[in-house]
Amino acid sequence: MRNQNILNMEYRCEYLIVGGGLAGCSLGYLLRKSGADVLILERLDAKRKDKLCAGLTAEYGKEEFISIFGEPVWESMAPFSSFRLIEQFGGKEICWTGNFFEMPRKVMDNTALQCYLGSGGRLIDHATVRTIDADAGKAQCIDLNSRQEFDVSFSKIIGADGALSTVRRLLTGKKPDCAFAIEADAPFCGDKGVIAYLPHSVGYNWYLPRGKDATVGCICLHHAGYDSKEITSVCLKEMEDFCRNMGITPTGKIRGAFLPSGLDVLLRSGKRSYFVGDAAGLISNITGAGIQYALLSSRLLAEAFLGGTPYEEAMRLITETVLKMAKNAKTIQFLECFTILAKGTPAR
Ligand SMILES: Cc1cc2nc3c(=O)[nH]c(=O)nc-3n(C[C@H](O)[C@H](O)[C@H](O)COP(=O)(O)OP(=O)(O)OC[C@H]3O[C@@H](n4cnc5c(N)ncnc54)[C@H](O)[C@@H]3O)c2cc1C
Repeated sequence: MRNQNILNMEYRCEYLIVGGGLAGCSLGYLLRKSGADVLILERLDAKRKDKLCAGLTAEYGKEEFISIFGEPVWESMAPFSSFRLIEQFGGKEICWTGNFFEMPRKVMDNTALQCYLGSGGRLIDHATVRTIDADAGKAQCIDLNSRQEFDVSFSKIIGADGALSTVRRLLTGKKPDCAFAIEADAPFCGDKGVIAYLPHSVGYNWYLPRGKDATVGCICLHHAGYDSKEITSVCLKEMEDFCRNMGITPTGKIRGAFLPSGLDVLLRSGKRSYFVGDAAGLISNITGAGIQYALLSSRLLAEAFLGGTPYEEAMRLITETVLKMAKNAKTIQFLECFTILAKGTPAR
């Protein structure tokens, strides 16, 4: 999407959303539906970007998606559903059929983007913020292709710019705390998904069938003591062992991305600045699930802006749960696996 004719101007909007991912577009869509004036800035090509993500979500994520975009939009994405997931731990298998949904993440993000644009939302892609003066309601922004700068005046600014949130860094002076995950394409080798918990850390490897192909990946959610180089090599080593055991050779390039650790959730900073999704630090530190929180936090923030329960209050239970999970992740994961194994016979 090109930004010709619109640069070199000062923009005004009620809501400036930085980040046109799932959280940003969901929030933008809900605000636009109520007639609000919204501008989204996205640093990449909004239509082509492809978020690294296994794209797995439980019933709860589906319900959240439907409550924002409606059932026909959900159905239009044709999610794979209810495949069998085998959980493994310590070389043992626990079989169960969870009601999971899976779809390429690009499909989900593009659908949310189209809904936002269809509702008349404004978007400038290949653009980001350089400085923010939240008290004055001004952001200095840049078009990343032309390097042209432009200003945006806003009533409220929302960081929806993912785990490494620039908005958060600019407003708080601190980098968010992060975990790491890697993923690669793989040959199809069975229609059962596998989740194998890491024996020495918090996280798991996965194999997920996807039509004729599949993906393999590793998510390492144990933050303490790892720098980014170390956490990458831990993920690579774990995934290599997993692939060897499964007899799989990844076919594509291995890609990596950060995700929040869940240890430093931040919903708001001052009177005009808010955060949603990964930028808010919302993740399940046990499973790495963030799609549901991206949707939920966006819906609750939109409702708060439109006169509903204040955002922090509406999110209280979720915030407490996310923090509790992150602090006790290792114990919870161990106990969960241990308890399930102690039940004995795997369900078939
Ligand atoms: C490998 C991997 C696998 C995962 N698998 C799952 C899974 O199966 N299920 C699940 O529930 N969760 C999963 N997650 C987590 C999930 O992807 C995230 O929680 C979710 O994407 C959060 O959505 P978001 O919109 O908040 O952030 P994002 O999807 O990261 O969107 C942020 C957007 O902001 C843009 N942006 C970033 N910086 C700037 C900037 N400075 N200026 C402007 N724009 C910017 C980005 O380009 C992006 O479009 C996984 C994560 C990883 C890394």
